[in-house]
Amino acid sequence: MKMSQMYIPTLKETPADAEVISHQLMLRAGLMRKLSSGIYTYLPLGYRVIRKFEDIVREELNKAGAQELLLPALQPAELWEESGRFQNYGPELMRLKDRHGRDFCLGPTHEEVITDLVRDEVRSYKELPLNLYQIQSKYRDEIRPRFGVLRGREFIMKDAYSFDIDEDGLQESYQKMYDAYCNIYSRCGLEYRPVEADTGAIGGSDSHEFMVLADAGEDIVVYCEDCNYAANLELAKSKSDTIEIDEELKELEVIDTPAITTIEELVAELDIPAEKMIKAVLYQGKDEIILALVRGDYQVNDIKLGNLLDIVNLELINDDAYEGLDTVKGFTGPVNLGDVRIIADELVMEVVNGVAGANQTDKHHINVNPQRDFKVAEVADIREVKEGEKCIHCDGHLSLTPGIEVGQVFKLGTKYSEPLGATFLDENGKSKPMVMGCYGIGITRTVAAAIEQNYDEDGIVWPKALAPFLVEILVLGKNNEVSEKAEQIYNQLTSEGIDVLLDDRKERAGVKFNDADLIGCPIRITIGGRSLKEGALEVKLRKTGEELKVEIDQYLSQIK
Ligand code: ATP
Ligand code: MG
Ligand code: MG
Ligand code: MG
Repeated sequence: MKMSQMYIPTLKETPADAEVISHQLMLRAGLMRKLSSGIYTYLPLGYRVIRKFEDIVREELNKAGAQELLLPALQPAELWEESGRFQNYGPELMRLKDRHGRDFCLGPTHEEVITDLVRDEVRSYKELPLNLYQIQSKYRDEIRPRFGVLRGREFIMKDAYSFDIDEDGLQESYQKMYDAYCNIYSRCGLEYRPVEADTGAIGGSDSHEFMVLADAGEDIVVYCEDCNYAANLELAKSKSDTIEIDEELKELEVIDTPAITTIEELVAELDIPAEKMIKAVLYQGKDEIILALVRGDYQVNDIKLGNLLDIVNLELINDDAYEGLDTVKGFTGPVNLGDVRIIADELVMEVVNGVAGANQTDKHHINVNPQRDFKVAEVADIREVKEGEKCIHCDGHLSLTPGIEVGQVFKLGTKYSEPLGATFLDENGKSKPMVMGCYGIGITRTVAAAIEQNYDEDGIVWPKALAPFLVEILVLGKNNEVSEKAEQIYNQLTSEGIDVLLDDRKERAGVKFNDADLIGCPIRITIGGRSLKEGALEVKLRKTGEELKVEIDQYLSQIK
């Protein structure tokens, strides 16, 4: 492409409202412009990078057996009522009405839409497994859109959804996506870590986030270099947690009455609207109330206290008057979300790690397995893992570092297939809910995250795989011979399938050099009077600053 014909509006000054490097550089290098809070236009150069990344994502997902489709962004509210999320998703959901007054939303994620498609189309185990994905704009009315496209309100996401006949199938699909994600981020040359993660508003049981390590990250990654344990701080555990919680559990005196209300009882007691029904298990511990919450009968391992907190307003803390089940009535009013979630996750981690699992079993009377099926919230003791604490899995020590969540994979189980009735007939003709997974990659966020890891004081330093152009040719001076030579090399490289940007603008050399550094193509070739005379090309590598004199034919093989 010739720069004289392209729209690449670079800026000298750093825009005042851009706090983080990627936001500043994406504006300065002419990759994007802001339309409104959290809403951006991707300019030609920025869009090229986005497409480069999308292509890598497509290649790896297709290789893993996923198929691309495109779902509508505009979605009828009825579908979201079926999953219960029209209410539960909260204010992040962009809601609107059509001219007839019907409710719609703009998709923040597409579990409902894809499940609706599959429930009507897929009937037999023979059609499974299935993995479908799309790359599309998503809408989330983020409370604090910031850092440019790192946290936008309209942003591009790749979302994939897998459908399997059972948990083993899901495990296989999940692993394939996990591996594909590792390939994707490695190919982009990013320093990243997969970490154990919470499932948030999407729900489900197991989950991993893929974190690009960078100071601008809003998450904290806790990791152990010795055994590779890594978790989001929200979930992370250290050896000191294990000891404390273990000891506390030993002290628990759990009431051995039927410690669960029926859905109906609970709904009546808590005055919960029918569509938000849950089951709750309450224990009287020695000094405190223990709470487990479960949704649905069939498979409840998808329960996160985070979801449930939207469903029932429970006051868990600061009330010492609870005794046994009668106290269910006492659980009303506002809840301290942060505290409860952390506590719940700590105990679940405990169970998962097998430390307290055995201790927990049989303490309640519902047909669920604590390890698999529910979370217990222990009301006291909220703490976070600190730098240097001992790893729970080995003798190593834990480090904390900020990370940008660029992707997440979830085991959903039947969280959506059950309420939406996405069933199939198994080998014996028995109807079963499909077992689902979902897998997101923030396309635009990853592009910004790549810049957070690859820049210097002069601008962006693109990893080869994401660069808008691999090579930029700078044409210096007005000499015809120089222009011809530049054009010739441009054509030669282009015909070899290399992406080349030719800076043929009528600008001063200084402007061209500055823009080239700012835009950050990996290889810069300068053609001026001197290089013509010498016969060799002046090549400079953006990353290392290394300057080479090369013969173009020789160099071609190295460039690719
Ligand atoms: P966060 O914790 O940062 O709010 P999330 O956990 O809500 O993200 P997911 O529902 O897991 O996001 O969505 C899948 C991916 O989409 C995320 O891993 C992230 O890369 C991207 N993403 C989510 N929200 C945004 C946003 N507001 N702007 C840009 N990318 C986003
Ligand atoms: Mg979010
Ligand atoms: Mg998250
Ligand atoms: Mg996430």
